[in-house]
Amino acid sequence: MKCPFCQHDDTRVIDSRTSDDQSVVRRRRECPECSRRFTTYERPGEVRIFVIKKDGRREPFDRNKVIAGMTKACEKRPISREAIEQAVDGVERAVRDQLAEEMPTSEIGALVMQALREMDEVAYVRFASVYKEFRDADSFLKEIESLVRKTPSAATGEGPRGSAPSHRTTGHNT
Ligand SMILES: [Zn+2]
Repeated sequence: MKCPFCQHDDTRVIDSRTSDDQSVVRRRRECPECSRRFTTYERPGEVRIFVIKKDGRREPFDRNKVIAGMTKACEKRPISREAIEQAVDGVERAVRDQLAEEMPTSEIGALVMQALREMDEVAYVRFASVYKEFRDADSFLKEIESLVRKTPSAATGEGPRGSAPSHRTTGHNT
């Protein structure tokens, strides 16, 4: 197998083990050229990307979960199922483009947030409020303010419930 780091043609398997249910073979590999190590997960028909959860557990990347999360955020918003699917396609592509076989949920969450921010500000705030687990009203308000600042007419203390008249979004993050 080709080295994902230096593209060397061959890599050495240094460890190989099968998952408990025998469905996945996990191989630890080392590149003789650049000495870097990576893991491959072999299972029928697809390459698995594993998501590392906050508590350290790993689970396979599940597109349906991303769709579910986005759908919930977009509830009663004028966003079609198709648009959500397209956004999830983008997220999935970005995940696979990383060439890593593992990715923390926080990174996936950030990708989803980015996609939602471009689609619908209300959905974005909803998702962000769950995903970022704002510890207090202040940090939540700060996030809202960063959105409201882009729509001057809404900056009258109305809060996030007033519908933002402008849909222009600029990448004003953090
Ligand atoms: Zn290499």
